[in-house]
Amino acid sequence: MKILCAASEAAPFAHTGGLGDVAGALPKALGRLGHDVRLIMPLYQAVDVQRHRLRIVASGLSVPTASGPQAVDLLEGNLSGGVPVYFIRHDPSFHRAGLYQTPSAEDYPDNAERFAMFCRAALEVCRQIDFQPEVLHAHDWQTALLPVYLKTTLSGDPFFQRTATVFTIHNLGYQGLFPPEVLPRLMLPRALFTPAGLEFYGKGNLLKGGLLFADLLTTVSRRYSQEIRTAEQGFGLDGVLRERQTDLFGVLNGIDPEEWNPACDPHIAAHYTVVDLAGKARCKADLQHRLKLPVRATVPLLAVISRLAGQKGLDLLYAILETLMALNVQLVLLGSGEKPLEAAFREAAAKQPSKLVVRIGFDIPLSHQIEAGADLFLMPSRYEPCGLNQMYSLVYGTIPVVHATGGLDDTIVQFDPGTGQGNGFRFEDATADAFLQAIRQALTLYREKTLWPRLITNAMTADFTWDRSAREYERLYRRAADKMRGQP
Ligand code: ADP
Repeated sequence: MKILCAASEAAPFAHTGGLGDVAGALPKALGRLGHDVRLIMPLYQAVDVQRHRLRIVASGLSVPTASGPQAVDLLEGNLSGGVPVYFIRHDPSFHRAGLYQTPSAEDYPDNAERFAMFCRAALEVCRQIDFQPEVLHAHDWQTALLPVYLKTTLSGDPFFQRTATVFTIHNLGYQGLFPPEVLPRLMLPRALFTPAGLEFYGKGNLLKGGLLFADLLTTVSRRYSQEIRTAEQGFGLDGVLRERQTDLFGVLNGIDPEEWNPACDPHIAAHYTVVDLAGKARCKADLQHRLKLPVRATVPLLAVISRLAGQKGLDLLYAILETLMALNVQLVLLGSGEKPLEAAFREAAAKQPSKLVVRIGFDIPLSHQIEAGADLFLMPSRYEPCGLNQMYSLVYGTIPVVHATGGLDDTIVQFDPGTGQGNGFRFEDATADAFLQAIRQALTLYREKTLWPRLITNAMTADFTWDRSAREYERLYRRAADKMRGQP
């Protein structure tokens, strides 16, 4: 099939979270299945044109916008394995310090216009390179207007007559909400400015456009696909999602083995596999050394890598920090986000430098070193659409302790010392007590000479490759194409 993936970020070019991991990995896996797949994203300041050997393939391409045509350039590069990647260059929109926010964590005020323009440009690029996608796969609110444009302003366009749309929700908590006066600036028909359209409690909601207009909807785990249809976790869109529930599917994200594999990871101090874990011990010593923690093989090293956002449940970690620090453990936290959380953890670390290290920032090599060197990985997320770090942790033999929600519930099976089955530790209620109890269970097992290695083996042999997920997307793409053509 001819498939165009459109995303606002993709590894390794520019990347702030799980969406970037997925947008960089899924097209490669679809390519391996033999599809003609291409990826399109904005050219941000963060994208290293030289390193990725991007070349200009068109300049001055005209893109219609509400304020008149805008000229954009088109650059082309590749994902490893050869999948073509197109970059829309429009410096006034994308050549900025951050992808979505200023350095002081404020959303750019023109985000709706920027990403509407990106969507419109992506469609013009299809024409320019004469690529008629059978499926256009859009991700999250930034690209949610793609199915809207195709089904409204461009509905009669012969070029896109055979283009079905699939829209993936990576996180329903981020909807692209804007003051209603922004909507007319997005080149949308007036008729859409109603509660049955993109209006949402007095605001414009771009994500809702994707939910209403895409042929099929997916989200990134089976459990999350159920949770978002409930009032508790639907962020006000559960009604829309219930209406579309027969078109909504959960497909778990995978792991890109080119990025995350302890047998050949270029960022880590020593390589290892499930049959020879000597390298993992060396990675732990190296990590302790880097973090200026006492280098102790037998002291359990706990880790967190996370956006510091309410969703991630780090308030639960903060609540038990003192109790944890009284135990014989070390803890490293790598993350950035909400300033009060950053400050609180920083302050705590200053009091306990020999036990607690807090690194504020986005540091990819360190994230690999932590996955390889830690013993336990903590994810107390209040909600978690899929979650990638618990899967990376499994592959690196670092045992996850998770709140059983969303993708964490789908991927982590409580370890049972009686049967030797399971790959981690779960807690059901999002409370500090339940979290602490799960950590204590894990720490008890850590001392068990035969059970702990068994648990590590279970973790490291889990199969979360993208190939399996890509086959599910392939099946859904065909279904979307059939649906669009009016076939059952
Ligand atoms: P989300 O997309 O909600 O942030 P995911 O678990 O789906 O959460 O994906 C997060 C991705 O971002 C992972 O690849 C994780 O390693 C990475 N990441 C998050 N914070 C950092 C950080 N501070 N430094 C490096 N990588 C990070």
